Formats: sequence, structure tokens, C-alpha cells
Amino acid sequence: MPARKKQTAEERRAVPRLRVARHEAAHAVCAVKMGLYVHSCGLGAHRMMRGSAGWTKLREQRCPDPLEWAHVFLAGDAAERHFYRQSRRAFSGDDWSKARALGFRDRSLDSIALSADVFVAEHAAAIDRVAYALAGEGQLSRPALLKAIRAASRGKKGE
Ligand SMILES: [Zn+2]
Repeated sequence: MPARKKQTAEERRAVPRLRVARHEAAHAVCAVKMGLYVHSCGLGAHRMMRGSAGWTKLREQRCPDPLEWAHVFLAGDAAERHFYRQSRRAFSGDDWSKARALGFRDRSLDSIALSADVFVAEHAAAIDRVAYALAGEGQLSRPALLKAIRAASRGKKGE
């Protein structure tokens, strides 16, 4: 597939709500499963994170683990591929830039991206549950996020 040029903020705003919600849900679920503290996530521009269609707010860490954070950044892009078969980076250029800024080389990022693909496939039910809640509410607090993740794991066990 030909490389696509980076999307403008305006083009990103035109992306359907559920799609943005799935992208953000993947960041949030990945962070929670990594044991990172997620404050909240939401749709629309965040005052601290301008120009994006959605946001996930994590607690700042004194010694962040770059590998964990790279997984969290690339999980959004992995969700684009899992749910929409979107070519890599079309909607996730900023996430890739942030992952690269952690100091990883391209080959390492490719391998982290593959592992993010596996993560998203394994947690697709939780990501979807969070995404629908997020698309409905526009924003999820930490308790609402954790509740949606728990509900998905109960669903899986057939309770
Ligand atoms: Zn993202």
C-alpha cells in the first residue's frame, strides 16, 4: 500500500466516533493490563493534548518503563489494524513519534507493534466494551474504565 501522508487535525476530527473510541480504548486497556495507572480517557480534544481526536490520561511516573509505554502508545495503532484493517500509522503518527521518542530503533518498534497486535487480538472484547462505553459517554473515569474491563472478562466466562 502506498504510504499515506500524515493526517491533519481536521481530517482526524472527521473520523467516526466509535473508531476513535476503539483506538483510545486500546491505549487505556493496554495501560491497565500493564499495571499503569489510568486516570481517565475521552473523546475530543484534551486541553493538555491538543490536535488529537481522543486522549488517555496516565499518571506520570518517576521511572517509566519505556517498553511498557511503547506498548501503550502502539496499542492504538494495533486497534486500527485489528478492527479496521487500516494500514500502519494512518491514524497514529503521533503515537509512533512518541514511541520513537522513548529511544527505540525502527526494528524494535516493529517488534513492539507486532506484540501490540497480539495484545489487541487477545483483549478485543475488553477494548470493545470500553470503546462502546466511551462512545456513549464521551469520557470515562478510572472506575468506569475498570468496570467496563471487568464486565468484558465476566462476559468471556459466560457468567
Ligand atoms: Zn493514539
